[in-house]
Amino acid sequence: MADDTKKKLPRKALPPDAHIETLAVREGLPATPWGENSEALFLTSSFVHPDAATAAARFANEEEAFVYSRFTNPTTMMFERRLAALEGTEAAIATASGMSAILLMIMGLLKAGDHVICSRSVFGATIVLFEREFGKFGVQTTFVSQTDVAEWRAAVRPNTRLLFAETPSNPMTEVCDIAQLAEIAHAAGAFLAVDNCFCTPALQQPVKLGADLVIHSGTKYLDGQGRVLAGAICGSDKLINGTFMPVMRGAGMSLSPFNAWVVLKGLETLSIRMAAQSANALKLAQWLEQQPAVDQVYYPGLPSHPQHALAMKQQNNCGGAVVSFTVKADAGQGADAQRLRQAAFHVIDQTRLCSITANLGDTKTLITHPGSTSHGRLSEEQRLAAGITQGMVRVSVGLEHIDDLTADLARGLHTLND
Ligand SMILES: *Cc1c(COP(=O)(O)O)cnc(C)c1O
Repeated sequence: MADDTKKKLPRKALPPDAHIETLAVREGLPATPWGENSEALFLTSSFVHPDAATAAARFANEEEAFVYSRFTNPTTMMFERRLAALEGTEAAIATASGMSAILLMIMGLLKAGDHVICSRSVFGATIVLFEREFGKFGVQTTFVSQTDVAEWRAAVRPNTRLLFAETPSNPMTEVCDIAQLAEIAHAAGAFLAVDNCFCTPALQQPVKLGADLVIHSGTKYLDGQGRVLAGAICGSDKLINGTFMPVMRGAGMSLSPFNAWVVLKGLETLSIRMAAQSANALKLAQWLEQQPAVDQVYYPGLPSHPQHALAMKQQNNCGGAVVSFTVKADAGQGADAQRLRQAAFHVIDQTRLCSITANLGDTKTLITHPGSTSHGRLSEEQRLAAGITQGMVRVSVGLEHIDDLTADLARGLHTLND
């Protein structure tokens, strides 16, 4: 059946030029006949049809309707529509986690014999997924520099189908040039997908810079309060509903309606959380730069950051809310890995407010030692190649008062070599 004759689900009447802040609280589905103001949570696995013929039309996809929550649920659809509106894409599809969004993307786009180019600095589980799991099915991945565009260009092969980037990177906060990577991808007839977890659409809209697909871990800033796992892919209607939806129907990496509802409500405060947490992060980064016990600060909002100008252009003049820094070990005792690790552990262990956890994107400030947690399974050589020393500490800055955060870190930094 032609798409224009297909019976569609209703849309909310919103101004065509509504801003992101408005879309974040208003986009979704129209209210039910009960007129609820806050979006309803539909905990139901299946949906009832008025008669057998309607059921048949809905199963044949001739009528857009809710059928079964593996692939259609009103709460999940509200989250998908709202996130797509924020990213400026035609559509979005929700998944159970950020990792399952990447799994769905690869199952939908690629087949054995296809080739992927991926930044070496992406999320650790993403590297494992590409290298080990997709490798088993004959999809090969070349890992390249986060920042050297020439390496991406040189890695292109005739069978390259996808470029995959994440910016800024974790924990080094290195920024890659989305517009340039989009050019390379499109010249090669490939797609560019960007993991937008660190910036969220409040700061960066990769599709506006030329990306084809945006990957999200809703677990991080979209929920923003550390409550549920969630994920999504945003992109064109053709890719989301034509390519990925059939895979979702078969493979079922579906987001639960409850988790969709939590993240949907999280989106309402996304812009103000990102602005407030980024402002806190900038102040913290500036303060850290002044501390004698701190060796280096990694934060795209600082002029000292190697990709500061690109970050400001690409991220709406904002550095985001993740700051990393390295501590100095006592020079007299040698700055070897063990001393650096002790110094970093000391700073972390002296905090009383910060939560020691490797998660990120919470209203609470989270602190972690990448060298022994998120990047602990790498060899010391791999870690050093990525710039992650044992003296590195990563802070996902929350909404606490900045003076309380600096006091929390000062306790350890000021007693480092006592
Ligand atoms: C956490 C994270 C993921 C994975 O998301 P989950 O929801 O934990 O599966 C992917 N990419 C980035 C950048 C992340 O930080």
